[in-house]
Amino acid sequence: MSATEATRAGDSDLDVIIVGAGVGGLYALYKLRNLGYRARIYEAAADVGGTWYWNRYPGCRCDVESLEYSFSFDDDLQQEWQWPERYGGQPVILDYVNHVADRFDLRKDIQFNTRIKAAKFSNQSNRWTITTASGESVSAPYCIMATGNLSTPRKPDWPGFDDFKGRVEHTGLWPHDGVDFTGLRVGVIGTGSSGVQSIPLIAKQAKHLTVFQRTANFSLPARNEPMRAEKEAAHKAEYSERRKAAYSTPFGIAGFPPPTQSALEVSEEERNAAYEAKWAEGGSISYLYAFTDLLTNKEANDTASDFARNKIRATVKDPKTAELLCPNNHPIGTKRLILDTDYYETYNLDHVDLVDVRSAPIEGLTEKGLKTTDAEYELDMIVFATGFDAMTGAMKEIDIQTDSGAKIGAKWEDGPRTYLGIMMADFPNLFMITGPQSPGVKSQMILSCEQHVDWIADCLEHLRSNGQSKIVPEPKAEDDWVAHNNAVADATLYPLANSWYMGANIPGKPRIFMPYVGGVEAYKKRCDAVAAAGYEGFQISP
Ligand code: NAP
Repeated sequence: MSATEATRAGDSDLDVIIVGAGVGGLYALYKLRNLGYRARIYEAAADVGGTWYWNRYPGCRCDVESLEYSFSFDDDLQQEWQWPERYGGQPVILDYVNHVADRFDLRKDIQFNTRIKAAKFSNQSNRWTITTASGESVSAPYCIMATGNLSTPRKPDWPGFDDFKGRVEHTGLWPHDGVDFTGLRVGVIGTGSSGVQSIPLIAKQAKHLTVFQRTANFSLPARNEPMRAEKEAAHKAEYSERRKAAYSTPFGIAGFPPPTQSALEVSEEERNAAYEAKWAEGGSISYLYAFTDLLTNKEANDTASDFARNKIRATVKDPKTAELLCPNNHPIGTKRLILDTDYYETYNLDHVDLVDVRSAPIEGLTEKGLKTTDAEYELDMIVFATGFDAMTGAMKEIDIQTDSGAKIGAKWEDGPRTYLGIMMADFPNLFMITGPQSPGVKSQMILSCEQHVDWIADCLEHLRSNGQSKIVPEPKAEDDWVAHNNAVADATLYPLANSWYMGANIPGKPRIFMPYVGGVEAYKKRCDAVAAAGYEGFQISP
């Protein structure tokens, strides 16, 4: 029997298909296997890690502190693993994910190098059949999409890629053997988190660096540092309490006392002293937590935005460059607030230039480099830090449909529609981990992955113990959740920014706010209440 046939034979007994071996998929496999389900992961990459497998660009680092950004499901794991720095760098996080896969013997149930192209549900057999890029098919009653929110890298659809004689890379698909910029004229397009993290390190090596900026973003100093032994010991001493407490916070991260005052009810002096302290401390939640209303009141937000702009002006020596780096079209925090190391300082280097491609947009690549509407820039390498088709891209790349005629493309044509960000009406037995309209990307992602997996596992246990095998959201429950999601977002300043949260970075994508911003605490309470009420809003059948 060939290896493929052997795999297929085993797969015919699967209970659950999981797509994706990032942190969500791995925990789903661990959890479901321990509950006695036969589960298998199908993963496009050659190894585990998801986002941390693909994003290997220089400077790639998590913007949530490492003691928080880690699994909580096993106390020995969290006590034994040692994070070397305040914020985990990509290589260390990838080592950690590999350690978890080995420690819990997960690899034996993961099929790597397998991209899923289609998933079809049969109401008659009550099974999902997934089809791989090489044409293999596997079926199981339940399917979990752990496909990630920022996993479909996108380059603009410009002419000239074939003409350019130099090298092109995307931060989200970085070569495993690294890139040597020594002696090169490098162009970086994009100043989101990936651009801002990589620019200072590329500048250290490159002969010349040109940064092409369309939108200036707010970035705060990360203040990364080696892990302090006493901080680690104190954190680990109360790890389980902290993990529990994290669920009672808006962003799923404990340790930040909620603010009590509006930015507008204190004197300017007091306000600036608060921002100064947060600036010195490092971290985005800390800064946005300076006052109660920074994300809900524009006037309050302006004070925090102005403070950050003045920091940029104080750092960048050339006033024209400084002004160009000052964000002016969105309130601070409404696009992902970036954490950096020496980003603004990099523009003080003689061999680094900033080009405004808002006033003169890029038209395409040429043989020699990049052409904007008013100049041509000669380059040896172009780094695209242009982001992802976020939140819905990975799901929509799979041809997901049912034999009743439901199709994901049509379903999400005007933006995502889900119930709790976990399931969709018309798509029975199909679960998402941190799907759109859940807090995922607005939270500590690993906590949100664990919360979803635990909820899904409880749901499968509920079905099993009641002799049921089919679950699907009622259309009304979905309608109400979509409306609630939009209402919560509309009560904040978030929709004011042209962000990937809004689908604004992809031409033609519907403009709708995709993450749930009512906070982790409210969200988890709702999910738990739905389950406690016998899976309210779902139709359950044998
Ligand atoms: P991004 O935030 O979407 O940034 C993409 C950048 O490319 C933006 O500056 C965008 O400009 C620019 N761009 C896109 N198309 C362009 C065009 N046609 N012409 C000129 N510029 C163009 O993507 P990202 O930096 O990869 O980050 C995505 C998300 O991943 C982050 O927000 C964060 O949640 C996550 N991430 C996290 C970390 C971390 O933990 N530290 C690190 C990296 C990424 P516009 O703003 O004008 O669209």
